Amino acid sequence: MNKLFSSLLSILFPPRCALCNQVIAKEDFGLCKHCVQQSHPVHNRWLTLPNTRCLYPFTYAGTIKKAIYAYKFHGRKELAHHFANWMYEAFATDKFDYDLVVCVPMSMDKLRERGYNQTGVIAKLLAKKMHVAYSRHCLVKGKDNRTQHRLSRSERFENIKGVFYVNEDVSHKKILLIDDIITTGATIMECTQMLLESGCERVDSAVIAYTLPQERKEEE
Ligand SMILES: [Zn+2]
Repeated sequence: MNKLFSSLLSILFPPRCALCNQVIAKEDFGLCKHCVQQSHPVHNRWLTLPNTRCLYPFTYAGTIKKAIYAYKFHGRKELAHHFANWMYEAFATDKFDYDLVVCVPMSMDKLRERGYNQTGVIAKLLAKKMHVAYSRHCLVKGKDNRTQHRLSRSERFENIKGVFYVNEDVSHKKILLIDDIITTGATIMECTQMLLESGCERVDSAVIAYTLPQERKEEE
């Protein structure tokens, strides 16, 4: 796109806050300062799961739910910066004792359709802030399963089994696994299991938001 055309476009259609629709600057990464101030990521809050624990700065409700929806379904890719910042802040005093950051993969079909892995974008930004290496293709989704969000808890665990495999040497590594939302934990637990079976030392995980049991009708 030529420069004149793109500046004309930004005058006609200035970027707007994904939450309150106020006009913002490009450097605001999709949220106005007020909406950023209104979000209060909780520090150092971990969900305990078998073989891993999962850091979650938000519960999946209210404005954060709206922001994640805009990111996933309305192409507001720039919001990844805020998600990565919030996750980074949520580690608070915890040291970043990791060798590698990886993300929950998408299937090749979905990846082709969408062009990029949205969780991967967040994971890469977070890894950079932490000064930890990031691997985009460490975990691979080998087959396309049914989407998780319409399934019951036990169906989710069944549906996700054997879907992922590990594509590189993770021996003795301390890994941070990133996903966007955690609901039952089925996806994170399955990825963790694969990583541990491949010889890594331990796996922690981190997401943007946790869906509380009473809110569980929707997606993972
Ligand atoms: Zn706003």
